[in-house]
Amino acid sequence: MTYRILLVEDEEAIRKFTKINLEREGYEILEASTGEEGIETALDKEPHVVVLDLMLPGISGYEVCETLRTKMPRIGIIMLTAKSQEVDRILGLEKGTDDYLMKPFNPKELVLRIQALIRRLNIEPVESTDNKNIFEYGPFRMDSYSRKFYRDDVEIELTPTEIAIIKNFISMAGKALTREEILHQVWGDEYQGETKIVDVNIRRIRTKIEKNPAKPEFLETVWGVGYRWKQIN
Ligand code: CA
Repeated sequence: MTYRILLVEDEEAIRKFTKINLEREGYEILEASTGEEGIETALDKEPHVVVLDLMLPGISGYEVCETLRTKMPRIGIIMLTAKSQEVDRILGLEKGTDDYLMKPFNPKELVLRIQALIRRLNIEPVESTDNKNIFEYGPFRMDSYSRKFYRDDVEIELTPTEIAIIKNFISMAGKALTREEILHQVWGDEYQGETKIVDVNIRRIRTKIEKNPAKPEFLETVWGVGYRWKQIN
């Protein structure tokens, strides 16, 4: 089990040095060199803690912080600032930063801050993805960690719901599922909407993953029942 930390830092030397030190502590490290890249990586890979440099090319650490705070309320954020930026601490706290560390910092100090933050936010660790969570089925391959999906090694853009639907089907390959079952398994009990949403999603998935969506090879229609993922041996 480990915690996933995202480093958003434009100075490569600092980033690499920090990465090495945090990896030594057993953390899984993601890297980004701009704020934009940082936001994208955070949304995609859901780190537990973001170590965020304030001064970045493009959008600043404040803006990154604000965006992440809105979109991922539970994420931990530690801001790195230069000494001269100390006055900006209040602004940063207003933007949703959890903690601060002044540059240059001792990596040991950063580790302590991360540990304290993880304790404070009561964050649960995740399975390490060093042994990458790759799942293969026929021409398809899915990386559950990055949530990337491929057909014949070509990446297909899928929404989280589409991925959940496919995973659910594959886990029950060969079994015909009703729309109600799919709704229950993917959307959960709380969902009150119509089963039509299942059809809409399946139509969209077919256009993305099937060679001929009108004659689906994998996501089959079972007349009078619902849908079935083709079992392959
Ligand atoms: Ca910087």
